[in-house]
Amino acid sequence: MSVSQLVYALLFTLAMGFFAFSARRLVAFLRLGRPDPRLDDVGTRLRNLGLIGFAQTKILRERGAGISHALVFWGFLVVTVGTVEQMVQGFWPAFDLPHLLPSPLAFVFNLSQEIFSVGILVAVSWLIWRRTVATPKRLRGEGKGDPVHHGEAILILSIIATLMLSILVESSFELLTPGPDGGPREPLGQPIARWLSLFFVGSDPITVPTAHLVSRIGWWTHAVLVLVFLNLLPYSKHLHVLTSLINTFFSNTSGPGPVGAMKPMDLEAETDVYGASDVEHLSWKNLLDGYSCTECGRCTAACPANTTGKMLSPRKIVVNVRQRLLEKAPLLVPGADAARRGAAEQAAAGTVADAAAKVLGKKLLDDYITEEELWACTSCRACVYECPVSIDQLEVINELRRNLVLTESRFPEELMPAFEGLEQKGNPWSFAPADRGAWAEGMDIPTMAELQARGEKADVLFWVGCMGSFDERAKKITVAFARILKAADVRFAILGQEEACHGDPARRMGNEYLYQVLAKGAIEVLNGYEVKTIVTHCPHCFHQMGTEFPQFGGHYEVIHHSEYLERLLADGRVPLEQGGDKLVVAYHDSCYLGRYHEITEQPRAALKRALPVMTLVEPARTKSRGLCCGAGGGRMWMEEKDGKRINVERTEELLATGADTIAVACPFCMTMISDGVTAKSAATPVMDLSELVAARLREPTAAS
Ligand code: SF4
Ligand code: SF4
Repeated sequence: MSVSQLVYALLFTLAMGFFAFSARRLVAFLRLGRPDPRLDDVGTRLRNLGLIGFAQTKILRERGAGISHALVFWGFLVVTVGTVEQMVQGFWPAFDLPHLLPSPLAFVFNLSQEIFSVGILVAVSWLIWRRTVATPKRLRGEGKGDPVHHGEAILILSIIATLMLSILVESSFELLTPGPDGGPREPLGQPIARWLSLFFVGSDPITVPTAHLVSRIGWWTHAVLVLVFLNLLPYSKHLHVLTSLINTFFSNTSGPGPVGAMKPMDLEAETDVYGASDVEHLSWKNLLDGYSCTECGRCTAACPANTTGKMLSPRKIVVNVRQRLLEKAPLLVPGADAARRGAAEQAAAGTVADAAAKVLGKKLLDDYITEEELWACTSCRACVYECPVSIDQLEVINELRRNLVLTESRFPEELMPAFEGLEQKGNPWSFAPADRGAWAEGMDIPTMAELQARGEKADVLFWVGCMGSFDERAKKITVAFARILKAADVRFAILGQEEACHGDPARRMGNEYLYQVLAKGAIEVLNGYEVKTIVTHCPHCFHQMGTEFPQFGGHYEVIHHSEYLERLLADGRVPLEQGGDKLVVAYHDSCYLGRYHEITEQPRAALKRALPVMTLVEPARTKSRGLCCGAGGGRMWMEEKDGKRINVERTEELLATGADTIAVACPFCMTMISDGVTAKSAATPVMDLSELVAARLREPTAAS
């Protein structure tokens, strides 16, 4: 064995040994998290891995940075084959992969190594420029606790650039050395190395020993840097290089399973801690999310709370989880860090008051993430939707909110009346339950109970929702939709006084206990009538009953009215007047339709069918990237004290389209956008889809 082989073997063994130690430690930290089985529907998970992980579909939604990152990722996959070849050469210097391959494959191998090395070099140079010179807002961080590790990022990017340069230096100077047969080397699929070798030689010939030496320097630089790079990853924000594909496979952000569904809590479990106040109360997947964050800031740039000046930054939430885990886990995980654990045990026993005691005395909640941040969230899912590595920031926010409400009874005082109303009256405004069906008076709409008494059944249950039942403005939407159902001869019924809130607002506000009581009550009523199909004009009811009720045995086909209207109109079942006004309409996407369920085309199609002479215009942020109205996540019941009002920001975007009508498909959006229009002193009417359709209903003639 030569000295060079010996040195390489030593370095390789040390590096791999340390890497194995680091990886084992990180996996041990994950075990601190709560169980969360994620091996269901492997087919969908593999599809996510292929599309989001390998094809980089999410990262490519943004040009510039997206293309650069995708190029680096794909380049790494290709260049890694050459790196493995080099590792083998470290032990067996004569190993030459292209020589083992048929000539065309050797050509492709060499060419791919060159093209992707240069591609990565260009992409990385651009990324360094972007971080150091252009520095877009989302890379600047949001102050304390939302650190952006520029130094680390630039170090890692510089190492990658040097790795690529070393490949090119090695191969171009190698071309200037004799081949294995002693004759000159012929480049094979190496146009760039060939050009570089000629460039380096210039008019001044380089001696063979010098060329050999420079080539070896290139080889060793690459070999050593690969090992250094590998060992830096576990200790830097670039840990995502190792974990993002795994994270994408295990993600729940793009399926499988119900997208956006909150996990049920076991309220019978014997525990003092509901939800999460520290990292050990989160699931292992939440902790893996922390490892996988690239700190790209796409989530924060899309967050309506953040961009309107609130404290909340979803990137900070995820980074805080990682920071807290790396701070606390070494003190708790057996074998992770024996010396520090010993200190922790001493601290717990009160024998020393040192740094470990301080660490154990802190919590993720309050010491890293404040209440103010948590209550600013509208649950719009823009963060989740934008994350290129399938992180679910919202899950952490929800778990911490649960802890605040259920374990600590800490929540904004404005929420108390909503909780009381839900608990005592079955609606968050404490309206009298007896008035729930009052909107239907004189409309000849049967209740389920009435139909049952007559021995009849409805095809469809119209679930009206609390807003649609009690809010004066939303009741007009309810009436309009009921008129359309009647005009289309749909055999439908309502629950009337038997309807009560399904509990979704309580769940989003962290009160899982109240939610489960309400949800189970609603399911009992629905199952009692053997309901199969439900239609509703509220996206929150639609999401809750269709996506989360199955957790408690409520299985129904739930259809949002935008989709149902589109079907009725497409089937020609809605009698409409000919012609109509030449409206210019801007449609505002509800988060619980557009992002949670990707229902974006159906409402637009319904509008186009019902209003054939209408012009549809789109606001700057639209469809699955539409800006939230600000009402979700319980924000409807909270004062918006900091920054600009989200509904005003959204209304400005809608008004900027020049539309003469704003269309919505959610009673909460209706309230928020109407308030926004008032705040802007504008006169643009805000109409629900069903109101726009109902306005064009052909009245039955006396003969008909
Ligand atoms: S769900 Fe919406 S409001 Fe909440 S953190 Fe994510 S982007 Fe921000
Ligand atoms: S959570 Fe996702 S989107 Fe947000 S900074 Fe991290 S990687 Fe980027």
